[in-house]
Order: sequence, then structure tokens, then C-alpha cells
Amino acid sequence: MTPLEIYKILPQSNCRKCMLPSCLAFAAAVVAGQKQLAECSELDSAVLARYGQECTTKAESASVQAAFVEKMQQQVAELDFAVVAHERGGQFYDNTIVINSLGKDFVVDRHGQMRSQCHIIPWVQAPILSYLTYESHKPVAGRWISFRELKGGIDWQGLFTSRCEMPLKELADANPDLLTDLIDLFMGKSVQWYQADIALILHPLPHIPILICYQAEDEDLSSDLTIFFDACCADNLHIKSIYTLCAGLVQMFASISQYHL
Ligand code: SF4
Repeated sequence: MTPLEIYKILPQSNCRKCMLPSCLAFAAAVVAGQKQLAECSELDSAVLARYGQECTTKAESASVQAAFVEKMQQQVAELDFAVVAHERGGQFYDNTIVINSLGKDFVVDRHGQMRSQCHIIPWVQAPILSYLTYESHKPVAGRWISFRELKGGIDWQGLFTSRCEMPLKELADANPDLLTDLIDLFMGKSVQWYQADIALILHPLPHIPILICYQAEDEDLSSDLTIFFDACCADNLHIKSIYTLCAGLVQMFASISQYHL
């Protein structure tokens, strides 16, 4: 949860019983892992029961993430690099697999260690390792389906809508040039799509193509944004990793929108 989301569920009385100057400061401390939600003595027990689990500390999240990456790295060591690189759209080079994500190369060695000219951030690292080690693989189908239609997508639909599609729509509403700029920045491709003002295809991973369709506000119609996936995606990556990848992408687009465009 973000500081603002946590703030919304707090009593907002700024009573300082948590030893912080305000509820907003407390919310920021929860996100930073310095406070637990339960340390707000004024919080309704029903609210705590509902959100306590969701507010895991950064430290807990980092340790879960590190354990996941370590497990993936062990599995990478068992792979036949030449075969995996070929079938998953990468390159086998100098005993490594080179995987392209959004136009940037990421090099994975025999120990699952990754290097790139870009900064290696967890939301890229974990899905790439997961993609290479995933139990099944299919080539790109050329048929677009919604997130909900992906295997396991229904369970993640709520989070996907609130963390991926809605924030990206708000970014596009505020910055109409953002989506077209992404085409140049990330080797995207513009396509025609029914009723969409802008439709672009991106490849977060070689065989994980996504189609972003945006329709701007028009008179009585509010704006709309949908992210579609090639039908092969759920055969090439676990739905949780697909969600992680998209949520990370949207966060990166938000940073780009804020600082670079
Ligand atoms: S104890 Fe709870 S209500 Fe009081 S300031 Fe801290 S967060 Fe806000």
C-alpha cells in the first residue's frame, strides 16, 4: 500500500499516540517499515484485521523477494541455456542467455546473476528469471485477450485494475503524449485498434507482448485504458509475475512522466 492509501484507513486525528507528529507521518513510516499498522492504538480492530496483512513492511517484502530470486537462481543453474534461449526468444552467447526487455538487453549467467546497461530492479529481475525457468512455453499466438481471460487472471483482476490500468489511464489523461513517447523509449509499435485513439504494443519480455489501448475523454464519454495480453502469456509466465511485471512497468512510466517528459 502507498502512504496515501494507508492514510485513508487511519483515524486521521493526528493524536500523536503513536509518537509521530501526524497520521500521514505514521502512514509513511508503515511503508518505510519503521512502524506496524497495529501501533496506531486508535485504529479500529476491524480495519486492522482487514489491512494488517497487506501492510507488510519493506523488510518483509524484501526478504520474500530475495528468497524468491534465490530459488529462481538455483533453477536457472539447471537449465540447458542453448535450448531455453532459443525457445524463449533470447540469445545464447558466451555461456549466458541474453533476454531483451523493452529494447534493453539483460544478460543472465549460469548462477542466475544478471547484468545490463540498465539498473537491475527487482520487478525486472524476478520476472526475467521466472520467465526463463517457467514450466511451460508457447510461441506468440497473435491473439489478444484481457487480463481476466489469462489463466488465474480473475484472482488478480482487482489488483491489476487498481495498480496497473487505472494509474496508467490517469497518467495518460494528465500527459496525452506519454503513450506515444513510450513507443520511442521502449521500442514499441503503434497499431490500429477498434475505438482506441492510441494503441501500442510493447514487449516487456520476448514472448510476453502487451497491447495498451487508450481512448481519450470525449464529450459524455470518460477516458478508458485497457491492457491486453497475447494469448500465450499465461503459458510463459505465472500470473503473479505478469502482474508484478505490469505494476513495475506502470511505476516506471509514472517516474518517466514525472521527470523526463
Ligand atoms: S496514533 Fe493513529 S490516529 Fe493517532 S496520530 Fe498516530 S496514526 Fe494517527
